[in-house]
Amino acid sequence: MSNHLFDAIRGTITSEDAIFIETENGRCWTYGDMLLWSGKIAGAIDTLGVRPGDRVAVQVEKSAEALMLYLACIRCGAVYLPLNTAYTLAELDYFIGDAEPRLVVVSPKAADGIAAITSKYDALVETLDENGKGSLIDLAKDEPEDFIDATRGPDDLAAILYTSGTTGRSKGAMLTHDNLLSNALALRAFWRFTPQDRLIHALPIFHTHGLFVATNVTLTSGASMFLLPKFDPAQVLSLMPRATTMMGVPTFYVRLLQNEGLTRDAVAGMRLFISGSAPLLADTHRAFQERTGQAILERYGMTETNMNTSNPYDGKRIAGTVGFPLPGVSIRVTDPETGVSLGQDETGMIEVKGPNVFKGYWRMPEKTKSEFRDDGFFITGDLGKIDPEGYVHIVGRGKDLVISGGYNIYPKEVESEIDMLPGVVESAVIGIAHPDFGEGVTAIVVKRANATIDEQTIFDALKDRLARYKQPKQIIFVEDLPRNTMGKVQKNILREQYSDLYAARTNA
Ligand code: ATP
Ligand code: MG
Repeated sequence: MSNHLFDAIRGTITSEDAIFIETENGRCWTYGDMLLWSGKIAGAIDTLGVRPGDRVAVQVEKSAEALMLYLACIRCGAVYLPLNTAYTLAELDYFIGDAEPRLVVVSPKAADGIAAITSKYDALVETLDENGKGSLIDLAKDEPEDFIDATRGPDDLAAILYTSGTTGRSKGAMLTHDNLLSNALALRAFWRFTPQDRLIHALPIFHTHGLFVATNVTLTSGASMFLLPKFDPAQVLSLMPRATTMMGVPTFYVRLLQNEGLTRDAVAGMRLFISGSAPLLADTHRAFQERTGQAILERYGMTETNMNTSNPYDGKRIAGTVGFPLPGVSIRVTDPETGVSLGQDETGMIEVKGPNVFKGYWRMPEKTKSEFRDDGFFITGDLGKIDPEGYVHIVGRGKDLVISGGYNIYPKEVESEIDMLPGVVESAVIGIAHPDFGEGVTAIVVKRANATIDEQTIFDALKDRLARYKQPKQIIFVEDLPRNTMGKVQKNILREQYSDLYAARTNA
């Protein structure tokens, strides 16, 4: 009898007194507490009638108990299905209808609204709030302490995780016990995690980054984490003297740089800053290194594959790259049309194969089939290249590619040029339907407060830097770029917002 993922977690525990989680209010959860509470909650779920393979959908605020619920699902063989806390009831209706969970766990304030939905699908509802209270915990309190884990093999489903929905409707990625375990072990080795590590965890726990990467790497290392409800730069800085590592999205680093408390001394005890989920601007990388003496380590992953690549722990961490494939992971770049492998420095579709790659999209067999090559490589949808030293570069998303006048334009190339101009904070380049060119290259730009830069200055600056067909046809200044909770720019919103830009011009 074995439970592939949880046995490995259990196996790394050397002392039940070691701290696993310290919360914002200073409450500590030892590894012994983790075993006790994940077991009790597993017992409660089992008593409710959830059987191995059943889905447990969870939309709750971040708390230590919420992580115990994740582990409880692993232990009782249920499929953990976390949902973004920003989803509205209408969105939940879609996810619940799609996933058909046996049990839905929500915060008490959502309980009434959710009951109207779950009654249609015959699902049970329990509650859990941000303070770790709720009907689920009440049930768990009465459960015995000796829960016997369900048998689960490497290929059994551990979770269904919906993608962020940046390029379209979210898809449920089916992840197995071994997808999660193999990736946690690869990252533990690559990033040298040990029981002495104390991770600053300010990410949401409904996404692959904060849930699987942060939690599973910590657990399989016997390390501990500061579990923070959200990212607050001052709070994070105050914890740094007691911490060793941080995992973040690029906006965390941008916000830390805005805080005067970020100094060499402040980070002296930190051994590793990791960034992912969205591209880290080279500027942020450089500014952080100048200020702190530490080079942020950027890595690349996705819901469907966990982590694929990482900049090296010891070697050069190169800004603008996502580093090397993790041990056991193969990456190749192919021609998006023909699927033929491309050579060094040639830009094409990034494809991944390895124990990290998911089993397929939940209830989307056709979509799953079309996203895998016959030899098992998954077509990520990201465009990139591999340089002669083996570093992987992400150039953008396939769906972002702008085709103007028959030419392919990679928005990131144009964005990088604009972002370098004085007075520019950041930019997003999109293609918008254009009567003459098919798509018109369009730059949406955020400028610094009081900057004098205008449309003409940008046009002039780009003239000598970019081929004519890559130069924006129009530049639009905005206050902020729309971002989702993981800090990803939502270009679909921008495309929609400005969809008539060139049509309006011709009609005028
Ligand atoms: P959807 O698939 O629903 O459109 P999504 O792809 O944004 O949403 P996630 O799985 O959360 O959903 O994000 C994975 C994507 O994030 C990757 O495919 C890649 O485009 C981007 N990404 C992750 N890490 C990096 C990075 N370090 N640099 C650039 N892009 C990154
Ligand atoms: Mg995606």
